[in-house]
Amino acid sequence: MLHVDLNRLQREGRARIDAEVGPGDAFWRDAELKPHSPLEVRLEAQQAGPDVVVRGQLRGQFELSCRRCLEPVVGGIDEEVGLLYRAGTEVGEDEPADVLPLPRVGSLDLADPLRELVLLAVPKYVYCREGCKGLCPGCGTNLNEAVCRCTSEDVDDRWAPLRQLKVDE
Ligand SMILES: [Zn+2]
Ligand SMILES: [Zn+2]
Repeated sequence: MLHVDLNRLQREGRARIDAEVGPGDAFWRDAELKPHSPLEVRLEAQQAGPDVVVRGQLRGQFELSCRRCLEPVVGGIDEEVGLLYRAGTEVGEDEPADVLPLPRVGSLDLADPLRELVLLAVPKYVYCREGCKGLCPGCGTNLNEAVCRCTSEDVDDRWAPLRQLKVDE
């Protein structure tokens, strides 16, 4: 599905890769990420002299959690793809991350580089709402939903002896 046949690409000059990678696909197996909808892959591979260029768009939605209160939040990506498969380079050569070695024969497997792009693009910090109040550091209550019984005195006990002094005077 995410393969480009190099023979055919050489013959035809370009190839479309249109795919929807479902949430249950093996693509996600080792990625610590929960897709909320299929990942839309819209790419075109193009022969560029001896090299191959893959360009297009990745779109998808993921189940994330609010950074403050940990409630589930759906966050999306809409990422431009630009990969260069360079002829004559070997795996492990010191190249930028989007420059990959072009195999001499067979096919390109786009799964790994695409998964890497997705992992980099998924937002790290998402919030369930503007001004999410988060969880009470004392008891863990979700302060968006309820008021807890912790008072600021309970949470910050450093001043208790001082208050005691004042009462004694
Ligand atoms: Zn929240
Ligand atoms: Zn509390």
